[in-house]
Amino acid sequence: MLRITDLVHVYGNGVRALDGVSLDIPPGMFGLLGPNGAGKSSLMRCIATLQTPTSGQIRFGDLDVLGQPEKLRESLGYLPQDFGVYPRISAYAMLDHLAVLKGISKAGERNDVVCTLLQQVNLWGVRNKALAGFSGGMRQRFGIAQALLGNPKLIIVDEPTAGLDPEERNRFLNLLAGIGEDVVVILSTHIVEDVADLCPRMAILAGGRIQLEGAPLDLITSLKGRIWKKTIERGELEAYKAKYTLISQRLFAGKTVVHIVADSDPGDGFEAVSGSLEDLYFMTIQTPAKAA
Ligand code: ADP
Repeated sequence: MLRITDLVHVYGNGVRALDGVSLDIPPGMFGLLGPNGAGKSSLMRCIATLQTPTSGQIRFGDLDVLGQPEKLRESLGYLPQDFGVYPRISAYAMLDHLAVLKGISKAGERNDVVCTLLQQVNLWGVRNKALAGFSGGMRQRFGIAQALLGNPKLIIVDEPTAGLDPEERNRFLNLLAGIGEDVVVILSTHIVEDVADLCPRMAILAGGRIQLEGAPLDLITSLKGRIWKKTIERGELEAYKAKYTLISQRLFAGKTVVHIVADSDPGDGFEAVSGSLEDLYFMTIQTPAKAA
């Protein structure tokens, strides 16, 4: 279990990126959802011991993470938002090199680990190709292979599916889903479907605060009877925004489909829809003060 208590992070320029974050994260996949600028990367970097928060506590099991960051790093796998290094050496050679840095010093053992991981992330067939020529999806899968080196008990992946096409995204999410259940895996993302498809527990971060936390299925159930939909002309949008609590709008076949939140039937041609995680997300980030 990862326990974060009252975490605050203020950058040198005065930006308060984390404003009292408390969160208990059990083993399994945990989705941290939030818009750009919410503070997700700041939180991930604090947990990964890459930056020291201004105040607060982080414990991983019995370990005081901020007191003994080097101990946490022994059981940490981290795929940063921008992995960044794609040299002209082969996937095999690079993973082998990273395995040396992780302390796997015996050549035979290292070869076994590297080969197993390359197979696990489905890059075995291209193990001798240069990373520089890999597609976005292949790079992210390589990123997971390096994060899995040394059997980590805590894995952090920061915005891993941004920019992947649907097939690559699916492959990548399936790979994450296959990581052991006794490992804490934190998936930070602004893509609602990533969390909906994969995570038994989640939290929404916005403005440096946790706005909502729980099991996606329970949270969606709480929306029952509160989300209403109507197809309108684009020109009517402003009037609907003024009259109702609009949570989303999208174009469909040239018309605008709006979702609103209302505790009873608003009439006016609206029909009830079963709420989705996306509805919940938009509701939460648009009314953060109320949700906090
Ligand atoms: P997210 O990952 O959710 O997009 P970030 O943690 O990157 O959010 O950013 C949270 C806030 O902190 C933003 O306002 C961002 O501009 C600011 N921020 C992030 N990194 C730095 C930094 N190194 N120095 C100053 N401000 C930063």
